[in-house]
Order: sequence, then C-alpha cells, then structure tokens
Amino acid sequence: MEIIDLSVDVASNPSEPMPIKLKVQPHSGGSKFGRRVMFLGKRSLSAKIRAIVNYISGKERITKKSFPNEEFINEETISLSVHTGTHLDAPYHYGRQSEGRKARTIDEVPLEWCFGNGVVLNFAEAEPGYEINSSDIENALATIDYTIQEKDIVLLRTGTDKKWGTPRYFFEAPGLGKSGVEYLVSRGVKIIGTDCYSLDCPFPIMLNKYYKTRDKTVLWPAHFYGREKEYCHIERLCNLDKIPKSHGFKFCCFPIKLKSLGAAWIRAVAIVEKGGSQ
Ligand SMILES: [Zn+2]
Repeated sequence: MEIIDLSVDVASNPSEPMPIKLKVQPHSGGSKFGRRVMFLGKRSLSAKIRAIVNYISGKERITKKSFPNEEFINEETISLSVHTGTHLDAPYHYGRQSEGRKARTIDEVPLEWCFGNGVVLNFAEAEPGYEINSSDIENALATIDYTIQEKDIVLLRTGTDKKWGTPRYFFEAPGLGKSGVEYLVSRGVKIIGTDCYSLDCPFPIMLNKYYKTRDKTVLWPAHFYGREKEYCHIERLCNLDKIPKSHGFKFCCFPIKLKSLGAAWIRAVAIVEKGGSQ
C-alpha cells in the first residue's frame, strides 16, 4: 500500500492572500524561562489549572533544570482562515440553506463522504479562466473509460499546483462551471476536489466578467450550486499527477472538527494498493 500526500503546507505563502499569524514558544522557553515558569505563568493557564499544578508541585518551582537536557516541550499558537491550505468547504460556506434545509456545517459533514473511491479527471490542458462544463467532464470520463458511481470523490487535475508558491497560483487557473458540478452531484458525488485556489475560476476573472455583464450567475457558480444540491468541495490539493491511476484507489480527507464553521483543514491523501487495476 502506498499513501500519497495531496496536501500543501500550511504556512505563509505568496499564493494565499489571507495572512497567517504564528506565535512560537520554543523549547528553550526564551529569556523568561525559569523566572516566570511557563506553565505556572498567569497568561498561559487558567487560575483553576494553575491551582492544580501548584497543589501537585507544592512550594517547589519547576525550572529549566527540571527537564531532560534542560529542554521543555514547545508550543505554537496559530491564527489563520479556515480556508487556508488544503481544506474542505461544507455546504454552510455556500449559503445558510442547502436543498431547502439548514446547510451542514463542517462538523456535520458525514465522515462516510470523506473516505471513498477516488477518481482523477485530467484537465491539464484547460486554460486559465476556462470554465469546465458537463461535456468536458463527459469527455474526461470517456478518456479513462469510467462511469461515475455514487459517493465517488472526484479530483480535478489542472496542474495549477505547479504554480504554488507564486501569486500566479491565485490569478491563473481554470474553474468548474455550474453544469460540471451538476453533472457530478446529480450522479451521487458528494465531494469534488481541485488543485486550484478555488473550485470556481479565480476571483479577478469572475469579477471582471460580472462588471462587464452584471450577470449574477457568473459569480461563484460552483459554490452557489451547493445551495441547490448538497455537496462539499476540496480546494488547494496538490500532487494529483503522482497518483499512478485515474481510478481504483481510495481517497481520504477527514476535516478537523471545527464546531459550526463553514470549512476546515484536511490532510488529503490517496491510498493506492500495489498491483491493483489501472
Ligand atoms: Zn474554501
């Protein structure tokens, strides 16, 4: 069995305009270590937990010398958008309602949707700004001689991940149009993934179209389709070209259980059994 990592690093990156704030408390504890022992410090623990620690340690204070190699465990605090890095968008992200009911938040997405048979569709030839439609999907499926099955997890390989690390990643990518989403979701697909910043075309391209036409349907058509029919999508996958087969592998993308939110980070992987069918 081989596990292929399909996730980008979560770190500040020119491809993502949303900032990440990171606060690091190193193993050395910094200059204050020993004087203001970190886990007895007022700022790091609630009064109640502090009282318990004090009870256990009595009057003795823990210092740097208490730890092997005078090195403590470290700690990091990170502040970032739930849409940073490789993540899963829940129906609630698209709107308050989906299929006439309250839309599911990320913690309500059934885990059964997040593990299943993966299918890679090749759109490496799609130009930036191109909207992939239902006949493109049909053609891509015909190329690999495959028919979509219920609960398949369909991954769109556009090759945009090769621009990861540059601003071009954000500005230059194709998107999935409404008819393309409809084709898949009406056949029982619950999760669609892309190796682009968004499942829709890049924001500047969509906005440009809107300002020219004032046509509301050009704005986030893939996202807004999720108000009509419930589905989730994954954005910012990578390495789809490393999966050695277009189908016949498992895909896994369990989201972090963020309560009542519209999206969450995932570690997306393909699981390929050796010697399986191509
Ligand atoms: Zn998102």
